[in-house]
Amino acid sequence: MKNNPPLFLNTIPLNAVADSYFLVFDEDKLLVNKNVSGFRFVRFSDISTALNGVKTGTLHFIGNENGFNYYCFRAQIAFKIETPGFEFCDLRSLINFFDAAEFRLASIASQVLYWDESTKFCGECGAKTKYLETERAKICKKCSRSFYPVVTPAIIVAVMNEGKILLAHNKKFAGGVYSLIAGFVDPGESLEECVRREVMEETGVTVAGVKYLKSQPWPFPSSLMVGFSAQYLGGEIKPDGVEIAHAAWFGREDLPPLPRPGSLSRNIIDVLMSE
Ligand SMILES: [Zn+2]
Repeated sequence: MKNNPPLFLNTIPLNAVADSYFLVFDEDKLLVNKNVSGFRFVRFSDISTALNGVKTGTLHFIGNENGFNYYCFRAQIAFKIETPGFEFCDLRSLINFFDAAEFRLASIASQVLYWDESTKFCGECGAKTKYLETERAKICKKCSRSFYPVVTPAIIVAVMNEGKILLAHNKKFAGGVYSLIAGFVDPGESLEECVRREVMEETGVTVAGVKYLKSQPWPFPSSLMVGFSAQYLGGEIKPDGVEIAHAAWFGREDLPPLPRPGSLSRNIIDVLMSE
């Protein structure tokens, strides 16, 4: 993707190219075109009539991919699109239907909007911020402190023990779902240290051989999931009882309900348990 400079506009440009894609959010839901081939992004020509006269939030340029420009904004008021098949869908549920390139664009859009909305004022002195013209950043009008989009790293890890995988049921998970051990990286901590600490804190187990597998943007609201595998070293499983209600070793034949397809956790579980 070309790294074009950001474009900031307060209203939709009248000369917006009809075939540009517009990622429109209403709260955390993304406007998509649901058709026989799945869920597609919406083009400007699809929504230009509905947008007529609507005050939008700031329009952000996301990038250019395959010759098409992508923009995003969050609707300030609900607007109706009468075209059949167009609807606002929860971004989490769309992971299942988007390919990696589509999910990346949706992640950029969601995280840019989060950054924009959470940096209207300076966290240091409270004055208003303004956009930099040259890069995606803001500076405080008074003290000149700068504010870049923040990405918060989190680890997920598949702990393996003689062909079995350690899965945990978090109290927040609906539907009895079990997933990999996960947690946010602490200040001053390496990713590998974070893996060992999170596994110990949440399940009481020690691990070795921490190995990087894959990562995935996780725009809820602004994380990067970094996936690892590790080998069980010792200890009895003792769920922390705070976040984790239950954790156990699962074999290929007795896997519990798993996270939705498309998520990195599900991808790692599927790959390791099919080997
Ligand atoms: Zn300031």
